[in-house]
Amino acid sequence: MSDRVSVRSLKAEIANLNNSQLEQLFNYIGEMLTVSSFRANLNKDFRESRFSKGEVCPHCQSTYVVKNGNLNGKQRYLCRDCKKSFNDLTKSALSCTKLPIDAWLTYAQGMILGLSIRENAEKIGVCVKTSFYMRHKILDCIRVFMGTGFVDGVVEMDECFIPESYKGNHKKSGFVMPRPSRKRGKQVKKRGISNEQICIVTAIDRNNNIILEPICKGRVTSDALEALYKEHVDSECIICTDSHKSYIQFAKDLELDHKRIMRGRYKNGIYHINHVNSLHSNLKVWMYRFKGVATKFLSNYMAWYKWLQSFNDEKELIRTKNMLIHSVVPFVDTRICSYHGREAVFI
Ligand SMILES: [Zn+2]
Repeated sequence: MSDRVSVRSLKAEIANLNNSQLEQLFNYIGEMLTVSSFRANLNKDFRESRFSKGEVCPHCQSTYVVKNGNLNGKQRYLCRDCKKSFNDLTKSALSCTKLPIDAWLTYAQGMILGLSIRENAEKIGVCVKTSFYMRHKILDCIRVFMGTGFVDGVVEMDECFIPESYKGNHKKSGFVMPRPSRKRGKQVKKRGISNEQICIVTAIDRNNNIILEPICKGRVTSDALEALYKEHVDSECIICTDSHKSYIQFAKDLELDHKRIMRGRYKNGIYHINHVNSLHSNLKVWMYRFKGVATKFLSNYMAWYKWLQSFNDEKELIRTKNMLIHSVVPFVDTRICSYHGREAVFI
């Protein structure tokens, strides 16, 4: 009865709302309905995205897989080749989690909004350490999901530098600093580009396909450029770069059409590097919030930024859902033991 009474009083209140308030209420109800249908379908979406080409064993990639009953409401499978069993979330960001899916949705939303590890921890009621692992479990999977990428057509290329950081390495665990420490997020002392800076190479084409990879310490060489881009740029593409000389040899080796923008100029005919420059300035603004990023996790942050740039036209709710789905698609070992002793990943 009380339900009916409260609905009646709600109706009376709604009748008093003006048009703009009604519109707000309508949007709110729409959002609530979308969220509940998201939740109801999420497990099905995970399964369909992960096994879009049929069921595959996450341990040995065999397709000789049979269904093997349910455990705690989750479908289990058995691999006939390696004899191991698995479920829809084995080797994903969500494997072995004790948290409800709602907490992960809220967490992913916080990551899209750019909340800190601590803020996101408070939001879902976990400790800072758990929040850190949640962030990197998601990012390890997003990094594999995004891959290096592929660019074609007119491609702008450049590089930017982020200070090397040993953040998170503790003396207690036997770590020895190879140089005197800096205050976090502070500029490196050596002038110019030194080995204390990590070089991030970037390529962006006119369809907003992005390659964004930490590649080495200090200046990039043409060999390193070739090793990274060889399989990831179209052989017919036109590359636009600044006057940095590594790109001349690189373009020559891969026989790419090369337009150089000379120092002090903004463009060369219709060719320019404005998009890659603005990508770098936006990246720096976005990175500022982290107050320095451990070099060993830098590739995760680049994948995160690339993901945000690549999936930026959808509504926040859909982006949140997609972030979790993309964290479930690839097979990635996200056990916490794999974080200890991690080295920086350079392509
Ligand atoms: Zn197997």
